[in-house]
Amino acid sequence: MKARTCLHFLWHALRLNVDPSHRVPLSLIIHLTSRCPARCLYCSYDRSRPDRLTPAVLCRILDEAWRAGTRRLHLTGGEPLLREDLEAVCAEAGERGYFISLATSGTGAAERVPALRKCDQVMLSFDGPRDVREKLCGRPTAAAAERAVEIFAEEGIPFWTTTVLNRFNLDCIDWIVDHAAQHNTVANFVLLHARPPGGGTLLHPTRPELAALQPSNEEYRSAIRRLLELKRKHRPVGLSVPCLREWLEWDDYTVTCRTQRARRYRRCLAVRCYCEIAPDGRVFGCDHPFGQNYPAPSAIDLGFAEAFRRVPWQTDCRSCMACCYVEANLLFSLHPQAVWNWLRLTR
Ligand code: SF4
Ligand code: SF4
Repeated sequence: MKARTCLHFLWHALRLNVDPSHRVPLSLIIHLTSRCPARCLYCSYDRSRPDRLTPAVLCRILDEAWRAGTRRLHLTGGEPLLREDLEAVCAEAGERGYFISLATSGTGAAERVPALRKCDQVMLSFDGPRDVREKLCGRPTAAAAERAVEIFAEEGIPFWTTTVLNRFNLDCIDWIVDHAAQHNTVANFVLLHARPPGGGTLLHPTRPELAALQPSNEEYRSAIRRLLELKRKHRPVGLSVPCLREWLEWDDYTVTCRTQRARRYRRCLAVRCYCEIAPDGRVFGCDHPFGQNYPAPSAIDLGFAEAFRRVPWQTDCRSCMACCYVEANLLFSLHPQAVWNWLRLTR
């Protein structure tokens, strides 16, 4: 990450921590499409709304977001590699100076190498050894992830693996971290997210659907303890120690968010310094309300800066176990261990 971008983050993080009214969309996640050829068991991404982020709209959003203060852009989906215009999007973002990350299942990586080369960091879904991946995501996606690892190595594309920890791969943690070490990269982990009782987001399956995959609380805690051990031994685990500790203290892993404050950061900073754009152009603080019939402002209709200004505070939600948000809250709260972890791992 460029020094100028680090200073921009530092300046605004300091202001966020002293001025409760300060808001700036430092980090923006764009869901480029809801389409995805994979069918992971743990995913029920909301595909009910139209994709409205046309190339012209995206170009305008990138311009508006840069001027509003965004410096980190995360491209995701669905499967972002399905976008024919991905190379143009990455080129436009790269020219502006964004730090670009992209999440993919690896499907179609061979056709999108020029776009992937423009990314600073690619997050590849990788749920363990081949047989485990086939059970969780099906044979074509399992093969695509393996092929993507080869392509990234051949092309020198910086990537991390991302594993959704569940019953099928809890005993594969060491294998996954060894695999990352062999490929000179880093293994990141996330926990299963259940839909809150009474409906809520369609992004994740309901509890009954997750039952076969959901580890018990004790099984999850023991996996998190193992990750902490590996992290302390300087093995390539992406999550920071404070994030893992936060996870360890989570009381019930079938509940994704709660109204109590987290111990290691003062409050959730969604809406204050990060936000997401859904494939239909609506802007949210985080992806948890995506599937809800929620009156979110549209970046297409209002422009990005105005839509960000109008995103309401999610006042009843104080903490969650979604690793990207926990890490973002720690980073922008300037937690020293989280900041050091990020600087050390993002070259
Ligand atoms: S988890 Fe991601 S890769 Fe898997 S089906 Fe859902 S959107 Fe596609
Ligand atoms: S704690 Fe923040 S990021 Fe997490 S679900 Fe709640 S509002 Fe979203």
